[in-house]
Amino acid sequence: MKNCYNNDNSIGEVLAKKETLWINPYKMPIETVDGLSQLAVSDGDIADAEKRLQRFAPFIKKCFPETEETGGLIESPLHEINKMQLALQNYADVRMSGRLFLKMDSHLAIAGSVKARGGIYEVLKHAETLAIENGLLTYNDDYSRLAEPEFKEFFGKYTVQVGSTGNLGMSIGIMSAALGFKVKVHMSADAKQWKKELLRSHGVEVIEYQDDYSKAVAEGRKNSDADPKSHFVDDEKSLDLFLGYAVAAKRLKGQLDEQGIIVDEDHPLIVYLPAGVGGAPGGVAYGLKRIYGDVVHCFFVEPTLYPSVLLGIATQKFEKANVHDFGIHGLTAADGLACASPSSLVTRIMTNHLSGTFTVADGRLYDYMRLLDASENITVEPSGCAAFAGAVGLFKYENAKRYCAEHGLDETKLTNATHIAWATGGKLLPEEIKNEYLNTYLVEEG
Ligand SMILES: *Cc1c(COP(=O)(O)O)cnc(C)c1O
Repeated sequence: MKNCYNNDNSIGEVLAKKETLWINPYKMPIETVDGLSQLAVSDGDIADAEKRLQRFAPFIKKCFPETEETGGLIESPLHEINKMQLALQNYADVRMSGRLFLKMDSHLAIAGSVKARGGIYEVLKHAETLAIENGLLTYNDDYSRLAEPEFKEFFGKYTVQVGSTGNLGMSIGIMSAALGFKVKVHMSADAKQWKKELLRSHGVEVIEYQDDYSKAVAEGRKNSDADPKSHFVDDEKSLDLFLGYAVAAKRLKGQLDEQGIIVDEDHPLIVYLPAGVGGAPGGVAYGLKRIYGDVVHCFFVEPTLYPSVLLGIATQKFEKANVHDFGIHGLTAADGLACASPSSLVTRIMTNHLSGTFTVADGRLYDYMRLLDASENITVEPSGCAAFAGAVGLFKYENAKRYCAEHGLDETKLTNATHIAWATGGKLLPEEIKNEYLNTYLVEEG
């Protein structure tokens, strides 16, 4: 791990399970890696995913009336949170420059988390492929037809399976069930009880493991591979999941433009994304890099107990990195981020694009949740609050200051900056669980 020390002791702090910022030494200017990146995921691939979601919009609108307003597109608001920004500054005793926004994927329709992007996209693509291959559908059809009983019967012959800590299972489960697929969700020990119950209420078969996420994924994959009529949504390497997430970038650009927010060399965009296996933040960040290039800076945030994407990239061992091999153990409250090994696709494709990764302690997540609830009256689940550790961390850590200096982010540019904390889940939290979280205080170790 020579390279990943990067002139500071952040890896030492990661291994000591301390909150820190790791700056990615492999990041390169976009033009030097553009060709190779596009070979893996091109602008055309992302545009294709966007068109597919448009084709499905009439179906989604018909099955999920909550998407009526957006015409069947699943999209979340971009909301400025200046009261939260003040609260964070007080809480962390830092002064932040620029404006802080919340990208509210916590409130996405249907699944109530960022997984409503990638997870739902992959299920839709699978359904489309099956229907077209079997001569039941053409690309020019009105896809609201897919809500007819004939299709439910057809999809009922097929199974969709997925490994999940909760939210991915909810997005895959709810959309697959709406199409008529049989669904099996393999859930890790970190998964919350209420998420299991909600899934079962949709007719989803939930299989529980007393082990971590990597195990649930491995078992699900094995189970699915044994059945030729079963499709496995593979969170550790799926390109379709990635593309579904990447579509977020162009939609965000539309929202920034609409709100008159300038993003250019003098007005940088700095985005903080909670990362589990890396798929969701990876897809979103990659999409943003394709649009904004070097003027967007993408940071991931991971729990101190699960810095898997960080270690995958830092060691360049990619999916072979496992937090347990570094002596990092423990059950995190950040169920959505509890992945011991990262995505093979994302650790590779983000190696040259990621700015760095903040780590955050569990107790902090509840504090952020309380601050957001009190200042803005917005509910985001603990995992989804991880992004705030980045927004304050950029103004706290010495190596963050060095990163800014090296990237020409002087005080003027930071004052003009737009910071986006990506809120990733929360809408479906039952009221009593929300109250329990709001009253959870963890004593920090060391
Ligand atoms: C899944 C999830 C993430 C991170 O997505 P990955 O693809 O696992 O990196 C972040 N927050 C929440 C609430 C999630 O459910």
